[in-house]
Amino acid sequence: MIYTDDMGVATEWSMKALGLMARHGVPPLPQNYDLWFRYASGQSSDLNEEIDNRLKEGRKIDDQLSADLHQRFVTHAALAEATIDAGDKLNVEVDNILKLVEAAAGDSTALGTSVSKASAELSNQSTPTDVRRVVEAIVTATRQMESRSRELEERLQETKGELNTLQTNLTKARNEARTDGLTGCANRKAFDETLAQEIARATSNRSALCLVMGDIDHFKQFNDTWGHRTGDQVLRLVASCLKAGGRETDTVARYGGEEFAIILPAISTDDAERLANDIRETVQARELVKRSTGESLGRVTMSLGVATLRPGEGSATLIERADACLYAAKRGGRNRVVSETQDVSLKAKAS
Ligand code: GH3
Ligand code: MG
Ligand code: MG
Repeated sequence: MIYTDDMGVATEWSMKALGLMARHGVPPLPQNYDLWFRYASGQSSDLNEEIDNRLKEGRKIDDQLSADLHQRFVTHAALAEATIDAGDKLNVEVDNILKLVEAAAGDSTALGTSVSKASAELSNQSTPTDVRRVVEAIVTATRQMESRSRELEERLQETKGELNTLQTNLTKARNEARTDGLTGCANRKAFDETLAQEIARATSNRSALCLVMGDIDHFKQFNDTWGHRTGDQVLRLVASCLKAGGRETDTVARYGGEEFAIILPAISTDDAERLANDIRETVQARELVKRSTGESLGRVTMSLGVATLRPGEGSATLIERADACLYAAKRGGRNRVVSETQDVSLKAKAS
C-alpha cells in the first residue's frame, strides 16, 4: 500500500514516475507504472535501493527486470498484506469464539446454581405445590439453557465456516508466496527454506542429499532471436522437464532468471548425476515450436552441476559447489552434467 491522501503529492510522484519511465525506456504498462510510482513515492526503501544499485551499475531497467521487481516488491507485498488482513480476521473470529464459550460456561453455572437453590428449598416437609414450583423452576432454567446451547451451536457452526474460508485463503496465499509465477516451480524463498530443512533432516538422519544446479545454455541469444515472450514459454517447458525428471521427494525451484535448482534427498551422487543427465537429454530432445505460428525454433540445451552434502555442511557451501560444477559444465562446452566425482580440479580444491 502506498500512503498519501494529498493529491498534490500523488501528482508529483506520478509525474516523477512517468519521467523516469520515459528516461529509462520502460514501456508504459500498468505494472511498470505501479512499480515506478512506488519508487517515486520512496515508501519502499528496499525497492529504491535495488533500483538505485542497478542504475549505478549502469544496467538498463528492461522489461524482464521490471517484471522481476514487480513480482518481488509488489505482488509479494500485496500477499503479505493479504496475509496480515486474514490474520486480523482470524483474531476477531477467535475472540468471538472465546466470548461464546465464556457465555456458555456462565449459562451452565447459572443453571447449576438455580438447580441447587431449588433443591435446597425442598425439604421433607415440602408440599406437592412446593415440589411442583421447584420442578417448574428447574424445567424453565433447563429450557433456557437448551435454547442458549442451540444458539451457541449455530453460531459456532457459522464461525467454523468463516474459519475454514480463512484457512483456505491463508493456505492459498502461502502457496502463492512460495511459487514462481512464470513456471509454477518453487521460488527462491521456498528453495532457501526447503534446502535448509532438508540439510537439517539429512544431518540428523545421517542420510545423503544432493543439489543440482542447472542453467539454460545461450539463452540470451535465444531471447534475442525469438523474443522474450517465447523465451518465457521455453522457461515453462524446461521447468516441466525438470519436474517430470525429479522424484516425488525432490524440490524443483527457479533459482533465478534461467537458472534452476533441484534438491534431491536420500540419493547417491551417481544416481543424482544420472537423474540430471536424463533431464539434460529430455530438454535437448524437445523440439520447440512457436505456438502462434507453428514455426520451429530449434532446441535449447542445459548445463547442470551436481554436488553432494558433506557432513556438517550448510546451504551456502553446498550451493557454491553445485554452482562451481555447473560452471565447469559451461566451460567444458555446455549441454553436459558435471558432478563433484568427475571434476577432479574441484575435488582437489575442496580437500
Ligand atoms: P550461458 O550458456 O553462459 O548460460 O549463456 P546465457 O546467454 O544463457 O547466459 P546469460 O547470463 O548471458 O543470459 C541469461 C539470459 O537469460 C538473459 C535473459 O534475457 C534471460 N532470462 C533471464 N530470465 C528470464 C525470463 O524470466 N524470461 C526470459 N524470456 N528470459 C530470461
Ligand atoms: Mg544461461
Ligand atoms: Mg544464467
